[in-house]
Amino acid sequence: MDFLARQRRLAEALERLKLDALLVTHLVNVRYLCGFTGSNGALVATPRRMTLFTDGRYAEQANAETQHARVVITRGPLLPETARALQRLRAKSVGIEAEHMAAATRAELKRLLPKSPRLRDTGGVVEQLREIKEAGEIHKIRESVLAGARLFDTALEAIRPGVRETGVAAEMEYAARRLGAEGMAFETIVAAGRRSALPHGRASSAPIPARGFVVLDWGVKLSGYCSDQTRTVHVGTPDADTRSQYTAVREAQQAAIEAVRPGVMVSEVDRAARQLLQASGLGRYFTHSTGHGVGLEIHERPRIAQDRKEPLRAGMVITIEPGVYVGGRGGVRIEDMVCVTATGYEVLTPTHKELISL
Ligand code: ZN
Ligand code: ZN
Repeated sequence: MDFLARQRRLAEALERLKLDALLVTHLVNVRYLCGFTGSNGALVATPRRMTLFTDGRYAEQANAETQHARVVITRGPLLPETARALQRLRAKSVGIEAEHMAAATRAELKRLLPKSPRLRDTGGVVEQLREIKEAGEIHKIRESVLAGARLFDTALEAIRPGVRETGVAAEMEYAARRLGAEGMAFETIVAAGRRSALPHGRASSAPIPARGFVVLDWGVKLSGYCSDQTRTVHVGTPDADTRSQYTAVREAQQAAIEAVRPGVMVSEVDRAARQLLQASGLGRYFTHSTGHGVGLEIHERPRIAQDRKEPLRAGMVITIEPGVYVGGRGGVRIEDMVCVTATGYEVLTPTHKELISL
C-alpha cells in the first residue's frame, strides 16, 4: 500500500480546497491514509504532515501499523488533543468530515476552538481519493471476491424447502470465517419465494418454500477489503415466465458490464441495463440503481445511477447488479464485481450465471 502517494494526493486536494488542515475522523479514511486499523483514532492532516491521535490501548498497534505519520498517544478523549494540535498549527481553515461527524461532536469541537481556526464542512475529500484503487488494493479485492465466491457452493448445499433463510446464511457465514474472513461485508441477504421480491430481504426465520426464486446477496471482508455478489437460484422447476424473468436480468447485467470502460458516464452504464429491461416490459420492476463502488467499505463512490454524470476511470472497482422484483411472484438479481481497466473491464466474480434449479 503506497501511503506516501495517498498522502501526496490528499495534500493536493487540500491545496485545491484552500484548507490548511483536514481533521480525519472517519476510521476507514484514517486507515486509508496511514494504515492504522484501531477503533479509536483521528488524523490531523496538513499538506506537509500527518499526526495520528489514539489512546493507550492502541499504543503498540499504532506504532506497528502507522506509516508516514507521527503517532500521539492521548491520556483522555481525542477531540481536545486534536483541537490543541490544530491551534498549535495556527491553521486558519480546517476541514472536518461533515458526513461522518455527529452534530454534538462538531459543537464540542467548535467550543474547543473559540476563535480560530475556522471549521469548514467538507464531504468526500478522502473518499474521492479512494475511488481509484492501487494495484495492491485490486489484488486484495480480488482475494476477497474469490473467498466470497466460494460461499455460493455452501449456499447451494444448504438450500432446500423447509430450511430457514437464516439457516442458509449461517452456513455461509461460518464458511466465511473458516476461509479467514474478518466477517461479512454486510448482513447476508437470503430471500426466498415471495420474499425474493424484496430487494433487501435480509435472511429471516421464514422457511424456504417448495417453489420459487431464492436471492442470495453476500460478501466478505478480507484484509480490510469487501466483496459483494448476488446470485438467484430457483427451487423447483421454473416455468416459462420465471425463466424469461431470469434471462432478462442476466442479459441486462451483461449489457451493463459490456458498457464499462474508462471515460463512459456511470449513467450510461445504468442505462444499458435499464433499456434492455424496458424492452422486455420489466423496466418498472427495476427499482434501484445499477451498482456502486466497493473497497474498504461496501458502498463507495461512484454510484452507478441514472442521475449521476461522473465518468468511469481506470482503477475503479464497481458492482453491476440489476434486478427485477415482481410483487407477489418473486425477484431476480445478479451482481458481479467489475474492475475498470485501461481499455475496458475485467469481471472479478468467477461464479457462472446459468439459472440453477434445486
Ligand atoms: Zn450485493
Ligand atoms: Zn452491491
